[in-house]
Amino acid sequence: MKVTFENTQIAFDGKSASDISRMQALFSIVARPSLVKIGKAMLNISLFLHFPIRWILKPTIFKQFCGGETIDECEEVMLQLAKSNIQSILDYSAEGLNDEAHFDKVDSEILSTIDKSKIHSYIPFAVFKPSGIARIELLEKISCSLALNTAETLEYDKLIKRVETICEYAQRADIPVMIDAEESWIQAAIDLIVEKMSEKYNKTKAVVYNTLQMYRTDRLDYLKSQHEIAQMKGYKLGFKIVRGAYMEKERERAIEKSYPSPVYQTKEGTDKAYNLALDYIVEHNNEIALCAGTHNEESCYHLISLMEKHAIANNDTAVYFAQLYGMSDHITYNLSTANYNVAKYLPYGSLKLVLPYLIRRAEENTSIKGQTGRELQLIITEKSRRKAL
Ligand SMILES: Cc1cc2nc3c(=O)[nH]c(=O)nc-3n(C[C@H](O)[C@H](O)[C@H](O)COP(=O)(O)OP(=O)(O)OC[C@H]3O[C@@H](n4cnc5c(N)ncnc54)[C@H](O)[C@@H]3O)c2cc1C
Repeated sequence: MKVTFENTQIAFDGKSASDISRMQALFSIVARPSLVKIGKAMLNISLFLHFPIRWILKPTIFKQFCGGETIDECEEVMLQLAKSNIQSILDYSAEGLNDEAHFDKVDSEILSTIDKSKIHSYIPFAVFKPSGIARIELLEKISCSLALNTAETLEYDKLIKRVETICEYAQRADIPVMIDAEESWIQAAIDLIVEKMSEKYNKTKAVVYNTLQMYRTDRLDYLKSQHEIAQMKGYKLGFKIVRGAYMEKERERAIEKSYPSPVYQTKEGTDKAYNLALDYIVEHNNEIALCAGTHNEESCYHLISLMEKHAIANNDTAVYFAQLYGMSDHITYNLSTANYNVAKYLPYGSLKLVLPYLIRRAEENTSIKGQTGRELQLIITEKSRRKAL
């Protein structure tokens, strides 16, 4: 069956008329940059003044982009997705805290998501963001190859132990763990840790996956050099391939600190690098497992054609597609209907702590120069299709 992402009937399967109207109202609001700006400011004021905001956020933007406030609360969404052959990647998305108590909490949540995967067959990966379990200043210092003092050395050892515990737990539960990529000035430390873990836990198959942000001009070379090292030392690799979420921040910092931006100057540069990474991994698919984290239709079509070219079965577990929950259902549902391995990143966490994540999603869906956003256009198409029946 030829996959097309144009099929909105499949994309909105199971969504009632009221679900679609709620989504339309939400995406119409976030499509207007001025409203997103005002909303963000009002949110900050409300938080500062302790105004109750839960009643408005929980049934609207939270419901659209998050599975629930706890793992158990995500159950309903996971079952709903599983009915359509879509898997869920539980992502504890509490952000903005940078202390040991928070790191302990994140750590225990990651282990709980692994526990959940033992009883729920629709969870293909565990995932975590390194800054959720480590101080950013520590990661930055390591990334700059600066010497650590005694306290920092102890802190680093503790971090390595934390990551080892997670990887070991994942290996025992037979579930791979993906480690998110972050800003370039802390990524070298993250890479170092993931490389260490890959060498230790990926002896026979990829248990640990690193993430490559293909907006970075050095990532294709990094992928190839990692492959060479893994071949030499005799272990497998796993990579989640994304375009990268911190482009503006990267560019601003590069200007501020007078170094060349690590990001391609054009979207075309990033797009080309993304597809070249897919080419390379699929060509070496016996040694490198892949999760393509993208909402880009062209990259998904490209991966489909690569799989055909290399005679890789649609449901071969060496290749996964993934999108964020609440976005690009036209890609996810059409892929699952064609029996590809596809999963949603399903963020969860207390409403207050996932707010930074929700604000990023609102900003990402804001239209450029007043054009109708991609999600909104799909909703409008589906509404017209249903009306015409
Ligand atoms: C499952 C999943 C997991 C993810 N995990 C991570 C993660 O661990 N770390 C992370 O950083 N991000 C992560 N992301 C976000 C991702 O990096 C992208 O920001 C987001 O998916 C949008 O890119 P896209 O491929 O979907 O498609 P598109 O909408 O086609 O691409 C948008 C992206 O292209 C790049 N871009 C846009 N304009 C330019 C320009 N002028 N010059 C150069 N590049 C440009 C930027 O990276 C931008 O985000 C994840 C996304 C998904 C779906």
